[in-house]
Amino acid sequence: MRPDCLLKAKTPNLDKLWQNGAYSFSALTDPISSSGICWTAMLTGVWHEKHNVLDNEYTNPNIAEYPHFYHRVKAQKPESKLFSVVNWSPIHKILQEGDADIANYLLTDEKVTGRVTDLLMNDNPDAMFVQLDEVDHAGHEYVYSVNSEKYLASIEKADTLVGKMISAIQNRKTYLSENWLVLVSTDHGGSQNGHGKDIPEHTTIFYIANGKNVKKGELKQQVNVIDVAVTSMKHLGIDTKESWNLDGKVVGL
Ligand SMILES: [Zn+2]
Repeated sequence: MRPDCLLKAKTPNLDKLWQNGAYSFSALTDPISSSGICWTAMLTGVWHEKHNVLDNEYTNPNIAEYPHFYHRVKAQKPESKLFSVVNWSPIHKILQEGDADIANYLLTDEKVTGRVTDLLMNDNPDAMFVQLDEVDHAGHEYVYSVNSEKYLASIEKADTLVGKMISAIQNRKTYLSENWLVLVSTDHGGSQNGHGKDIPEHTTIFYIANGKNVKKGELKQQVNVIDVAVTSMKHLGIDTKESWNLDGKVVGL
């Protein structure tokens, strides 16, 4: 999702998150702005030079040195319940045995949202990664642009689904005694009918952090896609080690 299009579309649920949280609409994703590379950067906390996912084939990911951040959470807090629910299945190629308690792949964003709200109501995840895919489909089909009504409409639909998931968190019986951090970001932007290049239209993304421990306001420093995993680990109480050689930093807490 392009940040300029997010700001143009009518997105009351996402607006509530950034307006009451920390945010950047000039964050950056990996210079190879394709899904496999960028989702892996988001979930490992390192750029492609380290995680070695260089295309959507995931030929030889370096998960031994740079695993999914769930792997690090499980190593320090094995009792954690970690879920991942996606609409683009290759994302799960970097998960190793035992990293996630639940890893689901569903065919539509609506089904992803249904599964996520069900898990939030009937289970007790410590962390959940959720990926919606249809905004990108709309960009490929119609055009990634503030002038594309259909692209903006797809963003508005995603916003509605985000609203349902946020409500599911807030309706948890134990919500008041819980401390949820919601991070919302994207793998890349786009122009015309594609993405993948190292140009601002493709690499500029948004980053939104919302929760009790968030320092509200616009983030002045450069935020990057790799900051998502590192910020998540901080919130989960993981002691990040120098030897992990992560590229990301904690942002917004
Ligand atoms: Zn795409």
